[in-house]
Amino acid sequence: MTPFETPEIQHIDPNCIFCKIVSGELPSRRIYEDDRAVAFLDIAAWHRGHSLVVPKRHATDVITGSGSLIEIAPAVEAVARLLKQRLAADGINLLLSAGNAAGQEVFHTHMHVVPRYADEPGLRLLINPGAAPDGELESVYRQIQAGA
Ligand code: 5GP
Ligand code: ZN
Repeated sequence: MTPFETPEIQHIDPNCIFCKIVSGELPSRRIYEDDRAVAFLDIAAWHRGHSLVVPKRHATDVITGSGSLIEIAPAVEAVARLLKQRLAADGINLLLSAGNAAGQEVFHTHMHVVPRYADEPGLRLLINPGAAPDGELESVYRQIQAGA
């Protein structure tokens, strides 16, 4: 196997923003990484610590990108535990959308890992656009990294 056949650098789409985040061409607040997946804070958090877990290789979605859910699964579990511990979350939602009709906006497989807190409970309050004030992303990033 040549280096170009390893899972982490296979199938990069040069026009995909999440491929650019994985490669480091675009900045992100990266909170976790393993051999097949990367996790970073969502820029428009629904709740404090809202993160995305993506496969390192480009896969459009879980339906057409064969195997991408399996590639991210261990990282999703690890990130859910990390966020619960470091942010003292009371619960976690996982959400993955495939296709326009489902609300997918970035066509590179990604799992939303959303910490939930007792003061804003329940599925009806899951999507909470525009919640993060200035500086909040940096503050939560520092809190997640503390103790690493
Ligand atoms: P979707 O609607 O496709 O399930 O979710 C896409 C998510 O990606 C949204 O929650 C959006 O805020 C996030 N997002 C879009 N562009 C960027 C970016 O450049 N950086 C980060 N960190 N998140 C992004
Ligand atoms: Zn991509």
